[in-house]
Amino acid sequence: MLSGSPAEFNSSTTERVFVAQSTEQKFGADPLMVRESDHYQEEYTEGFVGKWDELIDWDSRAESEGDFFISELKKHGAKKVLDVATGTGFHSVRLLEAGFEVVSADGNPEMLAMAFHNARKRGHLLRTVQADWRFLNRDVHGEYDAIICLGNSFTHLFEEADRRKTLAEYYAMLAHDGVLILDQRNYDSILDQGFSSKHVYYYCGDQVTAEPEHMDEGLARFKYSFPDDSVYHLHMYPLRKDYTQRLMREVGFQKITTYGDFQETYREEEPDFFVHVAEKKYVEGAE
Ligand code: SAM
Repeated sequence: MLSGSPAEFNSSTTERVFVAQSTEQKFGADPLMVRESDHYQEEYTEGFVGKWDELIDWDSRAESEGDFFISELKKHGAKKVLDVATGTGFHSVRLLEAGFEVVSADGNPEMLAMAFHNARKRGHLLRTVQADWRFLNRDVHGEYDAIICLGNSFTHLFEEADRRKTLAEYYAMLAHDGVLILDQRNYDSILDQGFSSKHVYYYCGDQVTAEPEHMDEGLARFKYSFPDDSVYHLHMYPLRKDYTQRLMREVGFQKITTYGDFQETYREEEPDFFVHVAEKKYVEGAE
């Protein structure tokens, strides 16, 4: 049985029939025990991937984030960008259209196939590589001016060793003065004050809801409901902002600037999302 699926009573057979709305996702008998870095492969099924663009709504998302990422990349002189969490291709396509040289990686083949298709529709050929972040340097070659890991993706790693390994892999792929742009939900606010959302950033589809079904310090189980009554879930590790910054610093990034909903100044509890811009450039005397 899948948690979160409605149970329907079938009177003709006097049998309880569980109708799994998210048929292909597998969370097992006790979903709240599923806290694994590899589980994203089970979660991004063909069905959910097919719905992803309804959830994010490319036009509204482009409008809400404006040129934030393009300006940040330009500010840091980036030309060659590795999108490590390509998903359905939203940022890869935007950056291609803005003139960057982009390689699009993701661990999930369904996502990459959808990204390729989306880019093709817009007249681009995406250079895709299937690669898990923890083995990035094994599967992707070359040096990049920037790595982007966007759309609250890093949160999929449940083991601290996996987070450290991933950041070390990113650090190694960057040029000496390269930059990592990585974002996350404001989990501090959800854990400490409860969930609220402006529904303005990231998940912009107005017919879709994305909300936590369960939260504890080790698991954020989010539920995504679509107008056709289909329901999907994602399991994520609720990264606290200071913790993410600390990991980045410990792996070697010397300067980290964190924006809240794309603004430089904010009250901690206000933003729905944080964006960390981590610079590799060596700064003498930096802590
Ligand atoms: N960046 C896209 C966006 O904003 O729409 C997709 C975000 S989606 C929340 C997270 C993506 O990260 C998925 O495409 C998933 O396959 C990928 N992912 C999760 N864990 C991964 C890992 N360990 N290695 C590579 N990709 C991973």
